[in-house]
Amino acid sequence: MGGGQLGRMFVHAAQRMGYQTAVLEADGESPAGRVSHHHVRSGYTDARGLAQLAELSQAITTEFENVPAAALQQLAKHRPVAPAGEAVAIAQDRALEKAHFVRCGVPCAPHAVIETREQLAAVPADLLPGILKTARLGYDGKGQVRVATPSELATAWEGVGRVPCVLEKLLPLAFECSVVVARGRDGVMVQLPVQRNLHRDGILAVTEVYEGNVPPALGAKAVAATRAIAEGIGYVGVLCVEFFGLADGSLVVNEMAPRPHNSGHWSMDGADISQFELQVRTLAGLPLAAPRQHSAAVMLNLLGDLWFRSAATPSEPDWASVLALPGAQLHLYGKREARAGRKMGHLTMVAADAETARAGALRAAALLGLPAF
Ligand code: ATP
Ligand code: MG
Ligand code: MG
Repeated sequence: MGGGQLGRMFVHAAQRMGYQTAVLEADGESPAGRVSHHHVRSGYTDARGLAQLAELSQAITTEFENVPAAALQQLAKHRPVAPAGEAVAIAQDRALEKAHFVRCGVPCAPHAVIETREQLAAVPADLLPGILKTARLGYDGKGQVRVATPSELATAWEGVGRVPCVLEKLLPLAFECSVVVARGRDGVMVQLPVQRNLHRDGILAVTEVYEGNVPPALGAKAVAATRAIAEGIGYVGVLCVEFFGLADGSLVVNEMAPRPHNSGHWSMDGADISQFELQVRTLAGLPLAAPRQHSAAVMLNLLGDLWFRSAATPSEPDWASVLALPGAQLHLYGKREARAGRKMGHLTMVAADAETARAGALRAAALLGLPAF
């Protein structure tokens, strides 16, 4: 379900293993729909489209985080569905998500749920300065407002239309990281190594994966927390959990995504089993062998901004110059139109060691006009 780049990379992984695919997506020109054997052109709530998808499929998964949980539950009456609608519903709502983290004993940022004027008025002063986040439908930093005072908070809540929100205390981040796990129906769980992430303007910009990318004790904590979070909802499928490493040396969980994640894209080139193959394996009920990272990897996200470096009309970046660098792996998602902030592709630099991967990625960034990191 869903026709974006995550669906496209899933389709590629499934097809490589001999499966046929069907994509449910209303847009006729989507990245996943255009490479799939079947393309059901339908919205996520259209009963006919869902019936057609079930008819075509032996098992169903989603690449789109905001697919209605009810649609997954409906499909689950006819076909195995992973992840389950119940798990996706928790990930779709920051308030439910944080309650789940607390239940699993994993610390998250101090926060307050704001659904009413009374809750707004009762927000403790020590949550400010903070970030007001809409409880639902936010991604890439959209639906978030930084607020320093109670009056800024009130204005921000008005500004988002008084929808249910979570106010989070603004934390002093030392670094960000994430962990991708895959859990099968039999409860077997495997994970990818801890991924160190750099965000710019609320959007993932760089992911670095190699020994020593984060303090080892915190990396081990992040893996244990991710496994507890998946275990705690009997999760089946691929799950990514994002964390903040704080200045005082502690680790708190940020949020989870019930699917492969942008920060796991390096695994297509740096590990023997990618996060998309893990998704295929969980869906098909195949064994989950532990992925082995064989190369140090640094991934650069390629946003639409790159297409507007030299002129107001979009022009293709100079891929040839970066592809001349050893270890450069270019992935473009086949989106019809470049727009600022839109994820158009990514570049993974792989090498035998971290220094070489980093040097190559910095060289590629310079060639493309991306900032150093
Ligand atoms: P995604 O595209 O990852 O789903 P999102 O829109 O759900 O993003 P978050 O992950 O909540 O957004 O936040 C985006 C980024 O903003 C974080 O990666 C982090 O850099 C920063 N951020 C979020 N919450 C906090 C916080 N409480 N304190 C400090 N920085 C934060
Ligand atoms: Mg998010
Ligand atoms: Mg995030």
